[in-house]
Amino acid sequence: MVVDHGVAHEACGPIDLPDEQGRFGRFGGQYVPEGLMAALAELDTAYRVAQADSRFTDELSELLSDRVGRPTLMHRVPRFAESLGVPGIRVYLKREDMTHTGAHKINNALGQALLARRMGKTRIVAETGAGQHGVAVATVCAMLGLTCVVYMGAHDMRRQSSNVVRMQLLGAQVRPVHTGRRRLKDAVSESVRDWVTNVDSTHYLFGTTAGPAPYPRIVRDFQKAIGVEARSQILKSEGRLPDRVLACVGGGSNALGVFHAFLDDPQVRLIGVEAAGRGVDTGWHAATLSAGTPGEMDGSFSYLLQDSDGQIARTHSIAAGLDYPGVGPELSHLKDSGRVDYHAVTDAGALRGMRALSRTEGIIPALESAHALGHLLELADRGALPANSVALVCLSGRGDKDLEIAARQLGITTPR
Ligand SMILES: *Cc1c(COP(=O)(O)O)cnc(C)c1O
Repeated sequence: MVVDHGVAHEACGPIDLPDEQGRFGRFGGQYVPEGLMAALAELDTAYRVAQADSRFTDELSELLSDRVGRPTLMHRVPRFAESLGVPGIRVYLKREDMTHTGAHKINNALGQALLARRMGKTRIVAETGAGQHGVAVATVCAMLGLTCVVYMGAHDMRRQSSNVVRMQLLGAQVRPVHTGRRRLKDAVSESVRDWVTNVDSTHYLFGTTAGPAPYPRIVRDFQKAIGVEARSQILKSEGRLPDRVLACVGGGSNALGVFHAFLDDPQVRLIGVEAAGRGVDTGWHAATLSAGTPGEMDGSFSYLLQDSDGQIARTHSIAAGLDYPGVGPELSHLKDSGRVDYHAVTDAGALRGMRALSRTEGIIPALESAHALGHLLELADRGALPANSVALVCLSGRGDKDLEIAARQLGITTPR
């Protein structure tokens, strides 16, 4: 069965970015060593050709339907809406948590893996921080019969051991990285080194809408299905567009995925919710667009968190997927253009969102997604949500991975 997930849609008008240099306004580009330029150019060409080839887009659509579970559900959450205390407000959730593997990351992983296979590559490398992207990549590699190598900081491997087991069970080789601070940033460096060395056989499967061109565009295009589906689903349910669309922001892929279909609808307010950690004033946060400044990181020019010497700042968030000092160039451009508003929600605010949705609706959200819910609760506290308005929240993932943290933080006792 072939369903239209928007994967073959060509953007047009003011939303047709990036430009030929891979820039979104003043952001983006390719700040990479010479040795990477040829590989990026090969990827860019292959992607443009694939995108215009219905054999590619039809196969992707078919796998999104049959194996990922698209289109995902979108439905009202009346008891959660009622808990906001705003008369007549209606809240909808776009259920990316219902995809195979339980988060939106698989949309991009599948798209890039198909592209890699089309390019004649038999081997995939990826980096992972919390392990969520690594699990999505290992899953699609198993599905398509590709060799999978995932680099992971040795420190992160200890913190996220269940995802390490998952990846191995799925047939991936997980390589610990012992350099630097033994975290995500060091794993990125190792993946790039592997890619440059093995570029004939290997594709580097990048996980979010950041990094050098063409990755921000490719990842966004593979995530656009979220918004394309949600827009037509809400038009069907409500007969009109929502007043607000909210999504959490780590690198930006689920947010851009849901926002893109609404960029040309000026009556729809788009709200990106970042991680304020222990508070934006404390220095323990990951609120890049709220508190950062433009600079160069991971191959692109974008907002980032840096100290006064230009060193990348240490970050903190209770949600591993948001714990990143950068953000993609397109979301940076949408900050400058004013089309998207950004707010930051603390760890405590996210836990509140997680508990509220779990108790009112029987849906346990990922801590990342819970930041968007927490922001909605805070808007209601401040009387900033009009009566009878409609809000759509992108529920980027499910909370199973966060149970241990939730138990500890919310004082839930576990049997021993
Ligand atoms: C990784 C992750 C995120 C953050 O990544 P984006 O690229 O900003 O979407 C958000 N939610 C979940 C569930 C994740 O796993």
